[in-house]
Amino acid sequence: MSTLRFKALETLPFKDFRKDNSVEIPAKLSELFCKNVFSEETMREYLTKEAFGSIMDAIKKGTKIQRHIADQVAVAMKDWAMSKGVTHYTHWFQPLTGTTAEKHDSFFTPIEGGRAIERFSGNMLIQQEPDASSFPNGGIRNTFEARGYTAWDPTSPAFIMGTTLCIPSIFISYTGETLDYKAPLLRALNAVDEAATSVMQYFDKNVTKVTPTLGWEQEYFLVDSALYQSRPDLVLTGKTLLGHSPAKGQQLDDHYFGSIPTRVMNFMKELEIECMKLGIPATTRHNEVAPNQFELAPMFEEVNVAVDHNSLLMDIMARVAHKHHFHILFHEKPFAGVNGSGKHNNWSLATDTGENLLSPGKNPKKNLQFLTFFVNTIKAVHEYADLLRASIASASNDHRLGANEAPPAIISVFIGTQLFSVLEELEKVTNGKLSPEEKTELKLNVVGKIPEILLDNTDRNRTSPFAFTGNKFEIRAVGSSANCAESMTVMNTIAAKQLNDFKKEVDALVETGLKKDEAIFNVLREYIKQCKNIMFEGDGYSDDWAKEAKKRGLNNLKTTPEALKQEMDKKFLDLYEEMGIFNHREVEARNEIKLEKYSTVIDIEARVLSDIARNHIIPSALNYQNRLIENVKGLKEIFGDKEFKSLAKEQMSLITSISENVSIIKLGVEELLKAREAAKSISDSQKQAEAYCNKVKPLFDGIREASDNLEMMVDDELWPMTKYREMLFTK
Ligand code: ADP
Ligand code: MG
Repeated sequence: MSTLRFKALETLPFKDFRKDNSVEIPAKLSELFCKNVFSEETMREYLTKEAFGSIMDAIKKGTKIQRHIADQVAVAMKDWAMSKGVTHYTHWFQPLTGTTAEKHDSFFTPIEGGRAIERFSGNMLIQQEPDASSFPNGGIRNTFEARGYTAWDPTSPAFIMGTTLCIPSIFISYTGETLDYKAPLLRALNAVDEAATSVMQYFDKNVTKVTPTLGWEQEYFLVDSALYQSRPDLVLTGKTLLGHSPAKGQQLDDHYFGSIPTRVMNFMKELEIECMKLGIPATTRHNEVAPNQFELAPMFEEVNVAVDHNSLLMDIMARVAHKHHFHILFHEKPFAGVNGSGKHNNWSLATDTGENLLSPGKNPKKNLQFLTFFVNTIKAVHEYADLLRASIASASNDHRLGANEAPPAIISVFIGTQLFSVLEELEKVTNGKLSPEEKTELKLNVVGKIPEILLDNTDRNRTSPFAFTGNKFEIRAVGSSANCAESMTVMNTIAAKQLNDFKKEVDALVETGLKKDEAIFNVLREYIKQCKNIMFEGDGYSDDWAKEAKKRGLNNLKTTPEALKQEMDKKFLDLYEEMGIFNHREVEARNEIKLEKYSTVIDIEARVLSDIARNHIIPSALNYQNRLIENVKGLKEIFGDKEFKSLAKEQMSLITSISENVSIIKLGVEELLKAREAAKSISDSQKQAEAYCNKVKPLFDGIREASDNLEMMVDDELWPMTKYREMLFTK
C-alpha cells in the first residue's frame, strides 16, 4: 500500500521510541517552580533595593518605571539569564494572529578594537521594533507608515525559553493604536480595578486595589504525529473535514476520568515539569469526555499573568507533544460526532486585603458586599451579552457552541436555584427608605443565609455559558483555541462600566437622603428586576431553551458573522470609547480582522475538502468499483446470465451506490468551488463572511456525507484517509 495512511499506520505499534519516552517527575516538583522566571524572589536577589521597589510599585500600583531603573533591571535580567546559558532576548507578544510572536536579538554586541561584549540596556528592555508589517492590523498600519513597536509589560514576569530571555510585551502602532491582545486587556484590567476599588469604599476603606483573577481550563486532543501527518485536512485546517464516526465512540464514557495511557502520561509529566519551570501553576490533569481528549488546569492567577501563561502553555504543549510523537489539536471540533474542546474561563475579583469579592463573608455586611459584586456582574452580562458572545466568536468555535456538548450561542447566567430565590426575595425590598424590621429581616433571613447556601454548592449546571460556581463565575463558552484575552477584555470592561454606573446610582440615592445600605438595596432591587430574563437554571442544551430564550428576547447568534455584526453596534463602540479600551477605528479594525480570518478559514476548508474529495476519495472509490466490476464480469463468465444475476446482486448494488455517491461528490465539489469563487469576490468583509457562512459552508455537508458513505463501502485496504478509529484510539 502506498498511501500515507498505511505508511503512517505501519510506523505505529512496533516502534519503541513511541513507548519508551518515559519521564520521571522529581519528588519535589515545587523546587522547579519559577526556575526559569525572573520572579519576585529572583528580582529580590538580582536587583538593587530601589529597582526592586520600583518594579513592585509598577506591578501593584501601575506606576511608571524610570529610565535609570530600567537600565538596572536590564543588566540584572541579563546577568540572571546568562547564568542560565541564555544568549538572546526577545520581546514576547501576542499579535492578532492568535499565536505568540518573538523576534530574537543577541546580547552579543561588537565594540571597537575587534572586541565584543554582552549588552542589554534599559532601552532594549523597554522597546523593540519587530519587522511586523505582516501581522494583521485591519488597515490601521499602512506598510509605508512608521512601524509598530513592542513595549515591555513589567506586570508579567520575564522568563527563559531555551536560550532566549522572553520579555512579555504589548504591541502597538506608532500612532498609539493597539495591535495585540495584551494592550487592551491591560486597559480593561485597569478600568475594573478603579471601578471596583471605588465601589469597595462602601464596604472597606482599606482596599486600594482590586485585581481580577482568571483560572482557565484548557482542553485538547492528542493525535499520533504520523497519523496526523497522513491527514491533509488536519494538517491544513486543524480539523478533519471527512471521516465516518467509529463504531466505538464516546458512548461508553469510559475515557472520562479513566486511567491515562502511558504515552500520554509521559507527555503530561514532561509538560508539568516545563510548566513548573515557567511558573505556570498547573495542578490538575485528567482525561476528558472524548477519546484522546484531555484537560489541564492551573491555580488561578491575576488575569494578565494567567492570560500570558495560557498562551505560553499552548506553545509549550505543542513542543512537548512533538517530542512524544504526538500532535496537539486545539481546534474546538477536530472530529465530527465527538465532543469538542473548550477553555473555561473562571473569573473573579480579588482585593489587596486578600478578599475574593465573589465569595460571601462571615457577616451581613460582607454578604451585602458579595451581593453587590454578584448582581453587578449579572447586570453587566445582561447589558452586554452580545459583546461577550462576539468575544468568543470564531469559525472553529461555531462548530462547538450549541452542538449538544457545549453551551448554546445564547448567553444566559446560571446562579443555582437557592441564590435565585435570594434574588427573588431582594426583588421585594421596599422602594426608598427601609423600616428597621425590614432591615433586620434582610440581614438575618436573606443576606444572612447566603454563606450556608454556598456551603452546599452542589447545584452545578454544566450547560450554561456563564455559571456561578460558588466563589467565581465560569465563562464556559470560550473556545479551546482562543486567546483568553479577548473574553477577559470584554468581561473586565463590562464589569468596570457596570460598577461605575452602580456607584453613580447609589451615590445619587445617598444624596437624596437614603442610608448607604438602603441605597444599595434599592439599586440592586432594580437590577434584579431588569436582569431576570437572562437568568436560566434549566438545560441550556435543550431546544425548549432556544424557544424560551427567543420569547425572553435574548439573542441566539449562532454564527460568527452574526455575532461579529453585533460588535459594531453603537452601544458597544461607545462603551469601549467611554472606558478607554478602544477607539472606533480600533474596534473596526479588529472586527475587520476577525471577519477576514473567518472567511479565510472557510475558504481554506473549502479548497482542502474539494482537493481531498477529488484526488483521494473519488479515485479510491472508482478503484474499488472497478474491482467489483471485474468480479461481476467474472461471475457472469463462469455462471452464465441467469445464475450470475442472483450471485452478483450485492456487488451490482454496491457498484450503483458507489456511482451515486461519486456523482454527489463531483457535483457537490463543482457547486462548492463556484460558491467559493463568488464569496471570494465580495469586497465588503461582513457580506463576504456571511456568504462564506451561508452559501459556502453548508455545501460541505453533502460532500462529507457522500464521502463518509463511501468509507463504509470501500475495502478498508483501499481507503486512503486515516480513519477516526485509528486517530482516536491509538494510545
Ligand atoms: P470544574 O472542572 O468543575 O469547572 P475545576 O476545579 O477543574 O472545576 O476548575 C476550577 C477552576 O477555577 C480552576 O482553574 C481554578 O484555578 C479556578 N478558580 C478557583 N477560584 C478562582 C477565583 N477566585 N478566581 C478565578 N478562578 C478561580
Ligand atoms: Mg470548568
